Order: sequence, then structure tokens, then C-alpha cells
Amino acid sequence: MKLGFDIDDTLIRLREHAFRLYNKKLGRQVDIAKLHALACIPIHEAFGMTPEEGKRMWDELREQIYFSDCPPYPGAVEALSELDRLGHEIYYITARGQGHCDRTLAWLKAAGFPVRPGRFYCGMGDAEKIHVIRELSLDYYFDDKPVVLDTLAELRMQVYVRDQPYNRHVTLPRIVSWDELFKLLSMDPPK
Ligand SMILES: [Mg+2]
Repeated sequence: MKLGFDIDDTLIRLREHAFRLYNKKLGRQVDIAKLHALACIPIHEAFGMTPEEGKRMWDELREQIYFSDCPPYPGAVEALSELDRLGHEIYYITARGQGHCDRTLAWLKAAGFPVRPGRFYCGMGDAEKIHVIRELSLDYYFDDKPVVLDTLAELRMQVYVRDQPYNRHVTLPRIVSWDELFKLLSMDPPK
């Protein structure tokens, strides 16, 4: 099987990680519940920032957000490693900017994700992901972002939305925890 995965907020807790870094940078202790209550992807509203202030903060902290110790979601590394071990093809498709691709690949490997040569795609816009995904003829694709998921309806493959507070309106099949992945693929879970 060929399976494609978005990275940020699909496999790893990037917004939560950024949220903690914002709190630290600002010397504040905004409750994480504020983040979970947001129905949008940008996190600045939880800190009472304007979009411009939020963009400045994200740009300033981006390196740290991307390349420090952002935790993967529970079970993500384990599930993908098991699929890789069983001979399935795992593809990573991220819209992180071109200038961050090499280090994102290195970070993914260091975090324990199985990355085979030629199976890491990076630096396309959200709207361009479909071209990569179509070209790869994936059997399954997982993403959290509504604007990406909306472009994929025409493809003949199984698209799953990785559950987040800002994508609850998306009507695609949904995965809430990576522990569900083997069941969803009708496979036996790893022993
Ligand atoms: Mg994402």
C-alpha cells in the first residue's frame, strides 16, 4: 500500500508546540484550553494578538517551532514504523517553505519517523499538494487542513481528515488517534 501523510498537526503537535513557545516568549501562561477552543488554524487569537502581530511572532519563532522538540502525536512514529517494516510505502507531503525542507527531512528522521529516499515532498503550496498526491497514486492520504482536503475530492483514493478543532465541519472520514490506523486499514495491530 502507498500511504501519504501531511506532517504538521497531522503527525506532530505543531500548533500546541508553537503555543507553548508563544507563552514562553511573551512571559505569559495562557491556558491551552484557549487554543483548543479556536476554530481556525492560526493561534494568535488565543493571545489576543492581531493577525499582523501573530504573523510577526510566527515568523520570529518559526525556526524554533519547526526544529526544536515538537512532540509527535502518540502512536504516530510507532504506526508508521510498523507499516514501513511490513513493506508499505510511506510518503510525507508538507507545504513547509522551500528554505526549510532539508532540515525538516532531517528533523523527521531524528524524531524517529521512517523516511525512505525519494518519499519526502516539501515546499509546494497547499493548492499544489494535489499534484504530488495524484502523481504518486496513493491509496491513502491523511491531512488536517480543510483547504487542502477540499482540493482532493476528485481523486480516487481514501482521504482521511486528522481530527482537529478547526476541521470538524469536514465530512470526510476522520482519524482521531494514530492507534486507530491499523483498524482503519483493516490490518492487525502490531503485537
Ligand atoms: Mg497540516
